[in-house]
Amino acid sequence: MNNRPTFRATDRLEEWYEGLIADRLEEAEARVSGILEDTETDENGCMVTATRGPRKVRFRGGQDRAYRFVYCIRHRLSASSDQVIRHRCHNRRCVNPEHLEVGTRAENLQDERERQANGVDWLLV
Ligand SMILES: [Zn+2]
Repeated sequence: MNNRPTFRATDRLEEWYEGLIADRLEEAEARVSGILEDTETDENGCMVTATRGPRKVRFRGGQDRAYRFVYCIRHRLSASSDQVIRHRCHNRRCVNPEHLEVGTRAENLQDERERQANGVDWLLV
C-alpha cells in the first residue's frame, strides 16, 4: 500500500512518455530504430553512439537521453524522473536495449560506486 500523500509535482517526463506510448508509439518506435542503427557495436555487444557523452534525443516536444528513450519506448514504460534506466554494461553511451534495465536512484549510485571502486568495467573484461 502506498500511504504517501499524492500531491507530488507533475512529472513532465512521465507525462511525455505516457503521451508518446498512447498516441505516437509507431513514430517513436521508428525513432528508436533510427537511434539503434546510428551506432557502432563493440566487442562487448554495446551499441555505442558516436557522441562524447550519452546521446540526447528530442522528439515531439520533449527530450531525454537516448538510452532512456530506447528503453521506455521498447518497454512501454512511462519512466518518471525518479526511475533510472541502468546500464548493466556500465557504458553510458550504449543504447543496446538488452544492456538496459530499470532501477532506482539508489541502485544507480551503487552501480557508479562499484564502477569507480574497480577502476575498470570488470563486467566487460
Ligand atoms: Zn552496453
